[in-house]
Amino acid sequence: MTRRQVTACLLWAVVAAGCGGPVGAPADLAIIGATVVDVAGGTLQANRTVIVTGGRIVAVADSPDGFAPAAAVDGTGRFLMPGLWDNHVHFGGGPALIEENRNLLPLYVAHGITAVRDAAGDLSPSVLEWRTAVAAGALQGPRIFTSGPKLEGIASIWPGDLEVGTPAEVMAALDTLKGMQVDFVKITENTLKPDLYLLGVREARARGWKVSAHVPMAVTLDQASEAGLSSIEHMSYLLRGGSPREAELSAAVGAGKLASAAALTSMVDTFDQGTAVATYRRLAARGTAVTPTLNGSRILAYLDQETHASDTYLQYLGPGLKATYEGRVTSAAAADAAAVTRRHDRFEQAARLLPLLRQAGVTILAGTDAGFLNSFNYPGIGLHDELEILVRYGLTPQQALVASVVNGPTFLGHAGDYGAVAPGRVADLLLLDRNPLEDIRATRAIRGVVLHGRFFDRSALDAMLDDTRQRAAMSAGGATR
Ligand SMILES: [Zn+2]
Repeated sequence: MTRRQVTACLLWAVVAAGCGGPVGAPADLAIIGATVVDVAGGTLQANRTVIVTGGRIVAVADSPDGFAPAAAVDGTGRFLMPGLWDNHVHFGGGPALIEENRNLLPLYVAHGITAVRDAAGDLSPSVLEWRTAVAAGALQGPRIFTSGPKLEGIASIWPGDLEVGTPAEVMAALDTLKGMQVDFVKITENTLKPDLYLLGVREARARGWKVSAHVPMAVTLDQASEAGLSSIEHMSYLLRGGSPREAELSAAVGAGKLASAAALTSMVDTFDQGTAVATYRRLAARGTAVTPTLNGSRILAYLDQETHASDTYLQYLGPGLKATYEGRVTSAAAADAAAVTRRHDRFEQAARLLPLLRQAGVTILAGTDAGFLNSFNYPGIGLHDELEILVRYGLTPQQALVASVVNGPTFLGHAGDYGAVAPGRVADLLLLDRNPLEDIRATRAIRGVVLHGRFFDRSALDAMLDDTRQRAAMSAGGATR
């Protein structure tokens, strides 16, 4: 029998136990004859049959012999890899936008993203509910790993933060996060005092969480890393580590003798590659990872050249979320020529650090910063853009994929459950028309997605996109604001 006949028989067997078989252990799904992508190893295994039961991979074999799957998919000529992880997203924009944010969940799935790491927003109670509902299979969306509300200082610019002004408040905030059973802790630096920032990092690590954060100007990358920081979010902070004057300038900011912007300019002006690599080696040795979120910063840096007014992806966003995009557009439009040039330069300088981080052995996490506020950084497609940018600036396609599907789960302590097409792993899978190890853009050629043990073929994914578009068009979220 040809493989197609086998597939047809397997499907037929569901109904009639025909074709003289197959007999064997019941299973939910078989993907037959695909080329399995070993992302961590950077190799391919041709002509594999992957058997899924109860949402887990139970076998990777030569054929479906020995199993009686309820559904079968012909994987001939296609590439099967773990579902993508977007390791930096946001949900937010206020209670009026809960619905619009929830509508983004299928948009991620339709783009092959089976897990997201939510790095805080102002809708934490909803996000925590969605995390539970998705895990139970009651809500269609990527698995959600969330920081809950982030730690900040008093009266920060962002709504929804846990604001802390004393050591006791840091402890109380972490108690609150414990009650929410957050997956990691996020800390930012708008008004947070440097000593409380370092206390927050140390104490959260002591309580067993990973900590992702921005880095206050008065704190050096080494100080944050020594305190136990697990990941630095956004590449721009890494520029500081290339300045031999970082410690001196940071201390001056901490003492109130120098403005942050002036300190940063001096650090960038004194950037030295050897210093940068040495700093990054120390980060790597302490296990501090970096989430570059280059797609987000690239979009903001080039708003002067790219209006995005006719982006087709705008149709997937409700009016309220689109309205949150306006702030960054307005401030970009107000910039003079010198500021525009500086923005371009800063982006290119930061993006060019990527090979240096690789060389130093720093773990890279692929994440977009997509969600509210961050203009035109679209949930779903944004991760494919991020992967492409990571390759453009120096990673191989395999390294970019590792940054998404291997480093994401490993960072959160779930290395044994995700990141490989292997027996025992969660069956969050992506079936592609082309080989992503050869061309990173192949992640866009999505033939199907397996989530919760169920196969969504191309037409099911297209229906998800249609549904998202229709919900966005019907949403009144921003219209009444
Ligand atoms: Zn962010």
